[in-house]
Amino acid sequence: MKYRDLNIQTQREAPNNARTEGFSFLVRAGYLTRENIQTRLGEHTINHLRDLSNDPSFLFHFSLPVISNDTETFFPVPTGSIEVVYCPSCKYTERLELARFAKTTLPQEEPLPPEKVLTPDCNTIEALANFLGIPKTKTAKALMFTHLADDKFVFVVVRGDLQLSEAKLKQHIGDVRPATAAEIESSGATAGYASPIGLKDVLIIVDDLIPHSQNLVAGANEIGYHQKNTNYGRDYSAEIVADLVQAQAGDTCSNCGNSLSVISVIDLTTRKEFHFENILLALAETHHNDKGLTLPHPAAPFDVYLMHISGKEMDTRAKAEEIYSALQNAGISVLFDDRDERAGVKFNDADLIGCPIRITVGEKSLKEGMVELKPRKEKDNRLISFTSLTGLTGPMEFWDLIKDI
Ligand SMILES: [Zn+2]
Repeated sequence: MKYRDLNIQTQREAPNNARTEGFSFLVRAGYLTRENIQTRLGEHTINHLRDLSNDPSFLFHFSLPVISNDTETFFPVPTGSIEVVYCPSCKYTERLELARFAKTTLPQEEPLPPEKVLTPDCNTIEALANFLGIPKTKTAKALMFTHLADDKFVFVVVRGDLQLSEAKLKQHIGDVRPATAAEIESSGATAGYASPIGLKDVLIIVDDLIPHSQNLVAGANEIGYHQKNTNYGRDYSAEIVADLVQAQAGDTCSNCGNSLSVISVIDLTTRKEFHFENILLALAETHHNDKGLTLPHPAAPFDVYLMHISGKEMDTRAKAEEIYSALQNAGISVLFDDRDERAGVKFNDADLIGCPIRITVGEKSLKEGMVELKPRKEKDNRLISFTSLTGLTGPMEFWDLIKDI
């Protein structure tokens, strides 16, 4: 394709809103607008990646530092909207809301007799633990929902120091919504002071740490009161006991015992579906230097950035056109910068756009039957004969030629 046909607009300066270098170069090289909308070059590149994905393993040839599990492939980037739990040691990778971790149980205790205590203004775990001078691990946190399928009241209990993962809850019982004040009241529970003890006709589901946690402080279902020494099994039981809580950075990996990290990522594949916009960003984040993108073959939208430098005696543009046709006939994709711009402007654009090979047709070399060829990741130009390019018969021949010079 020709540069002008794609209407490529490069920019000297990084956009103000760029939070990563990869995004910044995609905007500067004209793949994306500042508003993160694909330009024609961007669309062309996405279509190219889509074609490559006919080979389902195509992503693994791009040297991207991905992390993955059986269903998803992720790329770590600070601006990523997804959080995953990752074990640097055994590579366990899972979305934060679904990640497993090894839970720490407290020392086992003999169940003590229940005791109702006055706890004014203690309608949060924080306030309750402070008021009683106990760690949050000794409290039971109550969360109440309504089951969407059958309107059943759902009472969830997790240890007070942990956060419920609604995603995990939904895996066990399907969709829920927070219970309304009226629903809580008619269940017999008291908001802020709730416990499942004594409730009838509700679905009780507890985190699997609860049966191993004795003498927890729970609500007394009465405003201003809690009950000390509640014990699962003696005071109440649940229809479902399951892992319901969310992992945090620093939790222990349940596979290998090492410390888990929480990192921001974008998703590149979900099952067999590819997310091409994210793949383009991952390529840009991984493959760039201070001058622009350094996209690898075959991820780059074009194999070759072809340009001519206007001559005084020779028609360099016509010679470049000859190479353009010959390479395309040989199955090499070419972006032909056919503008009458200064050489420096074109060199800068070539570096920004990041095709693997730049070919420059200039008068000086051409007089000796040569053109300049520069791999994007190398510092120096090489010379290659004009006829070796125009005589190519296939793409492998081209890449072999580059290896040899
Ligand atoms: Zn691990």
